[in-house]
Amino acid sequence: MNRNNLAAWARQRIDEARRASPNLIAPSGDAFMVWGTIGSCGYISAEGDVYLEEDTMDPVPGTFIFRRDERARRQVLFFAARRYPELSAYLPKRSGGDPDCAACIGTGWRSAGEHKIFCETCDGRGWIDMASSGGAA
Ligand SMILES: [Zn+2]
Repeated sequence: MNRNNLAAWARQRIDEARRASPNLIAPSGDAFMVWGTIGSCGYISAEGDVYLEEDTMDPVPGTFIFRRDERARRQVLFFAARRYPELSAYLPKRSGGDPDCAACIGTGWRSAGEHKIFCETCDGRGWIDMASSGGAA
């Protein structure tokens, strides 16, 4: 899948969501919410743009920033692929030498009291991508 395929995928989802679940369409009207949790939502736009919307709570809840860096893109696609497996084609593939993430013991999640939170060390994969981390675990 390339960016054009991703754009076509998103446009189809936006069309379907207009009829069935308009709450999955970004307020801008041109992106589909592929994943969401408290304070963060991931979108894929009709142009194939993958981005993360984060509520900074600063100064008040509802103050959003939009991240389009590679890490945010990976995070959005990682969680999106759990619901839409076809999106896993956009994720880095684990090689035999990539170790489990020590911070989350290979689960992709860490405990915060009774809650589970996304592991920032491995971007939720549960393993360390030696190719993109430059060999640092
Ligand atoms: Zn981890």
